[in-house]
Amino acid sequence: MSDLPHARSHVAVIGAGPAGLMAAETLARAGVSVTVYEAMASVGRKFLMAGRGGLNLTHAEPLVSFLDRYGAARDDLAPHIQAFSPSALIAWAHGLGQETFTGSSGRVFPVAMKASPLLRAWLARLAALGVRIETRRRWTGWDEGGGLTFQGGATITPHATILALGGGSWAKLGATGAWTTLLAARGVELSPLQPSNCGFLVSWSDVFRDRFAGTPLKAVRFSHANVDIQGEAVITRDGIEGGAIYALSAALRDAIRRDGETTLHLDLRPDVTETRLRERLAVLRDGETMSNRLRRGGGLSPVCIGLLREAHGVSPPSEAGALAAAIKRTSLTLRATAPIDRAISTAGGVRFDAVDEGLQLHAIPGVHVAGEMLDWEAPTGGYLLQACFATGVAAAHGVLANLARR
Ligand SMILES: Cc1cc2nc3c(=O)[nH]c(=O)nc-3n(C[C@H](O)[C@H](O)[C@H](O)COP(=O)(O)OP(=O)(O)OC[C@H]3O[C@@H](n4cnc5c(N)ncnc54)[C@H](O)[C@@H]3O)c2cc1C
Repeated sequence: MSDLPHARSHVAVIGAGPAGLMAAETLARAGVSVTVYEAMASVGRKFLMAGRGGLNLTHAEPLVSFLDRYGAARDDLAPHIQAFSPSALIAWAHGLGQETFTGSSGRVFPVAMKASPLLRAWLARLAALGVRIETRRRWTGWDEGGGLTFQGGATITPHATILALGGGSWAKLGATGAWTTLLAARGVELSPLQPSNCGFLVSWSDVFRDRFAGTPLKAVRFSHANVDIQGEAVITRDGIEGGAIYALSAALRDAIRRDGETTLHLDLRPDVTETRLRERLAVLRDGETMSNRLRRGGGLSPVCIGLLREAHGVSPPSEAGALAAAIKRTSLTLRATAPIDRAISTAGGVRFDAVDEGLQLHAIPGVHVAGEMLDWEAPTGGYLLQACFATGVAAAHGVLANLARR
């Protein structure tokens, strides 16, 4: 390794999530001496949390549609994801002994489903490559000479730095978003951090909240701004969250930001036509309560009956046609996003016009950024980790290109 051009260079990677560890691996493979500094007592806490419900590493759809998932950041991320593509990520996981499979939705998971076996194998590989990892090392900024400062007083002056500090959700796992103040003070252009793949606040009645908080909503179709998603959601004490809501969350969030609140439309019986529903609801039984009619004729679950009452007042319309229409077109008023700390990911962060093609900050030469702290967002489905890994690789290549020029 010692005859490699970068052999005497030392690079600091700050943040030991998937982006930082991938940057460290890429640098170490090129012969650079790398130290990863991590504020928490252990590495990859959010990555391990991501594995709790099945670690969705990436997605198997064609690259063109894959890239479209990044919306406004598509063209900024495209070169990095083309350079470290979903198939490269799958091959990398296989190289760590983690076989993968593609689910019916196209989502790609390790066979083990959890993140821990992959992380264990990865850390062993990083150790074999000579990567040093120092935990309980919280980076606090720069001193006057440009050295990196850490809580407790230590300062280091590496040849280059990669910041991979994560977004601003689930602070207890390490990503606090505190870096926004440090980078803004150095003139780095940032977009405000906002919740992405998040839940929303709804003013439930006390009766509905007490009865249904924690109840899953299955087989309901949710619509907003001409996008329909059929999937699962969960009623929370303060509102609604879950996969189908996350899929609509960027547009819902932006509409609330623009208009102060927004309407989420629900089809509570997407599997039945309105005509068929009307026919079934028109069959009346003597003395039957509205709840029984909705259960029997409408085929609604108790939580869906509750939602209908929330939307239409305690008594939904009794005429069969109007009732069928109400079931097919219920609506909820969303007042705000749920707190950012509970979001799966964050939008906003370091703007792409604040970095060069090697993800180096124009305002702070020698400092590169990677992962969720960059200004992009994507739905769940493996797109989040793919972009974190790919930008980790890209930031490392940016550092290597600079070191080679020196
Ligand atoms: C519940 C949940 C489930 C998820 N499931 C999936 C999934 O299945 N698929 C998917 O693609 N994505 C998933 N995600 C999102 C994914 O985990 C994140 O996008 C990804 O972990 C971000 O990687 P990162 O390296 O940019 O940041 P992080 O993983 O947040 O890592 C940043 C690291 O920087 C450290 N740090 C921060 N500040 C400092 C400092 N000042 N000094 C030193 N260290 C610091 C933090 O402690 C942390 O370890 C999930 C997220 C959550 C919350």
